[in-house]
Amino acid sequence: MFLSCVCEADGRLNTGHAGVLLAERRGSYPLIDLRILKTSAQQGEVETVTRRKVKRLLSFQRYCHASRLLRGLVPHTPRSLHLLDDDYLGQAAHMLSKVGTWNFDIFLFDRLTNGNSLVTLMCHLFNVYDLIHHFQLDMVKLNRFLGMVQEDYHSQNPYHNAVHAADVTQAMYCYLKEPKLAEHLSPLDVFLGLMAAAAHDVDHPGVNQPFLIKTRHHLASLYQNTSVLESHHWRSTVGMLRESGLLSHLPADMSRDIEQRLGSLILATDINRQNEFLMTFREHLDNQDLDLQLASHRHFILQIALKCADICNPCRVWELSRQWSERVCEEFYRQGDLEKKFDLEISPLCNQQSDSVPAIQIGFISYIVEPLFEEWHRFTEPSLLSQTMLDHLHKNKANWSSLRCAHTPSDVQSRSQAEEPEGEVGEGSDIP
Ligand SMILES: [Zn+2]
Repeated sequence: MFLSCVCEADGRLNTGHAGVLLAERRGSYPLIDLRILKTSAQQGEVETVTRRKVKRLLSFQRYCHASRLLRGLVPHTPRSLHLLDDDYLGQAAHMLSKVGTWNFDIFLFDRLTNGNSLVTLMCHLFNVYDLIHHFQLDMVKLNRFLGMVQEDYHSQNPYHNAVHAADVTQAMYCYLKEPKLAEHLSPLDVFLGLMAAAAHDVDHPGVNQPFLIKTRHHLASLYQNTSVLESHHWRSTVGMLRESGLLSHLPADMSRDIEQRLGSLILATDINRQNEFLMTFREHLDNQDLDLQLASHRHFILQIALKCADICNPCRVWELSRQWSERVCEEFYRQGDLEKKFDLEISPLCNQQSDSVPAIQIGFISYIVEPLFEEWHRFTEPSLLSQTMLDHLHKNKANWSSLRCAHTPSDVQSRSQAEEPEGEVGEGSDIP
């Protein structure tokens, strides 16, 4: 059962695309081209992007110094301290020292890093696991790759933006540290887990697969209406890997294998395949036949860990969880508004008038999140983290239930809260 599942994932990669791995960049904007709606802002946008790139480079350089200091790799000389941003060291670096704690506030971290949470976090975790040394990675190429990934997330999406990617990466790190798993993981497993988490939604257009299909978006026909977004996230990642040359020093078969395994991980985040993975996971736990000495079994658990990280918002502390819920619903409502505007049928969960945030969250928790995390709890047992996550999950579900009772027909308050200026989110006001 297990092998057939993995083979199916691999089979899709190998046979579905005739062994030719195309690389993509950009191009996920919906067919009702949102770029048309932004023409007057485009010149300013180019300047903003350039400014952001310079800022990012400076932050990254500061980070490299800070990270080495944190790990004691270079002595604390007055000269190197002079290069550091005191604020950065005082707050963002302090947060990084607690990056493995479950109440890590990624929104605050993103503000402290000047919108560079994904690049900063990834670089830090690569240092923690010594991946740069292990894979002999070129720091300039790594910076280039991570910068491209972060940049290709759409900052105007309320939910599917680089902060979500950083959040999933932080959660993935917490799961990789689980004692049940940690001792078995190879450096390659860790590398793939972090890379897949960071890139799993790259270039997400802020609308879902049914929207792309019904508007006959070119990505929908390219991927034959199946795992359209996930395929695009993966192919875009491969494109950026090749463009940055990050893996160009590795033997060709190894970099090809990395690209394929990244695909298998990213494709596992397709929510339409939730049951397939849940059933296989449950069966393994019932049979107690998971053997983490086997690379294929570790790969399966990485797929599950990434799926958990991707939907872990309701398992976070309420203050963080609530923000994510409002953001994802805001993204749904924007799609609904777009469908309404162009006379398309409004998709499920996307109608602000009838689909309230509490109702959406209760459904999501009950049918998707809870069943998966109950099995993850079984797998990781005894795990303080899993118990904490389930406690938050139950508490948050109860909170949404009380809010649903008190809910008014149009969830105006939640929507306005979700639109509070948060830097990267506030830029999206030009999307209808
Ligand atoms: Zn995601």
